[in-house]
Amino acid sequence: MKTLLLGLITIHYSGDSQEVARRLLTVTRKSYPVFKKLFAADHDLSLDIYWADRKDWPNVPLCRHRQNYGMPHMTQGANHSHAVILPAANLDMPEALSSIVKPLLDPRQLTAAEARNLRRWLGLKSNLSDEGLLKYLSSQKFYVDYLVEIVLVHEVMHDFCFEFGIPENYGRDGRQAWWLFEGLAQWSVLWVQRSLGNDKWAGLHELLYRWMYRTGKDDKGNVSPIEYANYAWFHGALVEMFCELEECQGKKYGPEVLRHVLQSMRGREYLTDGEVVTLFSRAAGEDLSPWFRERWLPVSR
Ligand SMILES: [Zn+2]
Repeated sequence: MKTLLLGLITIHYSGDSQEVARRLLTVTRKSYPVFKKLFAADHDLSLDIYWADRKDWPNVPLCRHRQNYGMPHMTQGANHSHAVILPAANLDMPEALSSIVKPLLDPRQLTAAEARNLRRWLGLKSNLSDEGLLKYLSSQKFYVDYLVEIVLVHEVMHDFCFEFGIPENYGRDGRQAWWLFEGLAQWSVLWVQRSLGNDKWAGLHELLYRWMYRTGKDDKGNVSPIEYANYAWFHGALVEMFCELEECQGKKYGPEVLRHVLQSMRGREYLTDGEVVTLFSRAAGEDLSPWFRERWLPVSR
């Protein structure tokens, strides 16, 4: 693989992907100071970003999921070598990625305003049919953009979390809520893109994940009740939560909670549900426990 190096950031890329490699470097370089500020980081960390073609997977160090080309758990934080491993979607479509995202996207679920915005943000004609939109969302171009602008930032957030001692424990062991760990990474995409003035990607991310949450489909495309904790729930719930809270508490609320949560989680093994509710309530300046009890806690694991 070839490399592009800038300070602490190394992009490892495959074959003819120089153009994408430059984009990966630009997004990582711009996001880095936003993350440092978010974590009040007292030291730097080096980041290795891999844009790896299928044939390069066996050479990627420490990749536990090389058999599953695409998405699952693309960060390597356990040994403090921070690596984000993305599938080189400009060379080969990652089936794992499309199997997760495609079934979740149904333009018929959008409001008229959302449908207009989505077409505008994607640079598509306003009168493009739903079928045309779906075709675009299944295209290679969309997946490259999506990986560079959204997934990369999400995974870099995981690396910062590993570096600064934010517990990873998933809800399956009955302790740390999975939605919180994944949700923080999802929310950070929104925050980073907003901070960089990329309204298009911030808006698109918000729309995609609130839409995913609302349609309540699992990763096979089966409709399931919104109260069912599935992929959409784990990845969309916190975005939905923060956006709802911002709608009543103001735009500052999201990042304020994020900073509170990160500070309180640092070095901890896990946070209990009660502690999460207290943190959110403190940032909101009001008791949010009824709202949590009704909307989130029953299905948060
Ligand atoms: Zn994640």
